[in-house]
Amino acid sequence: MEKCHKCGNTNTIVRRKQSGQILCQECFVESIQEKVLKDIRRQKLIEKGDKVLVALSGGKDSVMVLHILNNLRNRRIIDLVAVTIDEGISGYREEGVRIAAQNAETLGIEHRIVSFKEYVGRSLDEIMSDSNDRNACTYCGVFRRWILNKVAKEEGATKIATGHNLDDETQSILMNYLEGNIHNLTRIGIRSESKYEGFTVKIKPLREIPEKEIATYVLACGLPVHLAGCPYAGDSFRAKVGVFLKEISKEHPTIMYSTLRGFDKIKPVLKEKFSQKGSMGVCQECDEPAAGKICKACSFRLSWNQ
Ligand code: SF4
Ligand code: ZN
Repeated sequence: MEKCHKCGNTNTIVRRKQSGQILCQECFVESIQEKVLKDIRRQKLIEKGDKVLVALSGGKDSVMVLHILNNLRNRRIIDLVAVTIDEGISGYREEGVRIAAQNAETLGIEHRIVSFKEYVGRSLDEIMSDSNDRNACTYCGVFRRWILNKVAKEEGATKIATGHNLDDETQSILMNYLEGNIHNLTRIGIRSESKYEGFTVKIKPLREIPEKEIATYVLACGLPVHLAGCPYAGDSFRAKVGVFLKEISKEHPTIMYSTLRGFDKIKPVLKEKFSQKGSMGVCQECDEPAAGKICKACSFRLSWNQ
């Protein structure tokens, strides 16, 4: 009979293919929490006194981030606030908002729900009913980043924590390699590195945790999470790269880690050679950071009024 490698318990739930380690439920949950908190310390993602804004969609990744960071809040190391962005995707987002609120309430964490409609003037469904040129994720990504940054400032947050996991990060690395997007590659990392003070630093505490282990964690802890997929997700390039990585991981269980480690080693060289040194300015419309006169979010918004 298989036994937990840590405590000898025979009630095992996880066999880590990458290391051969077998763990029971309790030791698995403890080992994940320890790993995430150790990564936060080692990478200096959070400092004492930080106010961290968690981007809480209600999905398993962001729910896990909220629960683990709550450890630091309980120890009075940080202050925590959660924000859920309602993009206005009917039949999908409502449930995510409800589950996000439920998690924040259980932990007694201040929770804001903000919408595209309120901040941008249109819901994502309305934007898409008028648009036939772009895909929904382009608008969604631009406006979400824009709103997150605004809310962080409104809340006086010093960090924004997102739920990006190992699978997400290796997908981003591979996608940008395959598309030859070297400039985008220089921006991938455990924390955003913009020196411009108009940007709140973004951190990814789950960057080294595989998606599969996050699913096991939330199940083991009995956390309520939103499982449905976004109707706009479709057959994106990211999804295809994700399928490829999952498939190849079956025979090469450490491939995502080696992709990440290799990338982190070459990133300083890439940055030195390829990061764009152009200075950031302020958007004439919204005062948010912008590479040109108008930020991306405002250029979309202005195009609707023409
Ligand atoms: Fe937004 Fe849905 Fe695209 Fe995710 S999949 S970026 S929620 S439109
Ligand atoms: Zn703007």
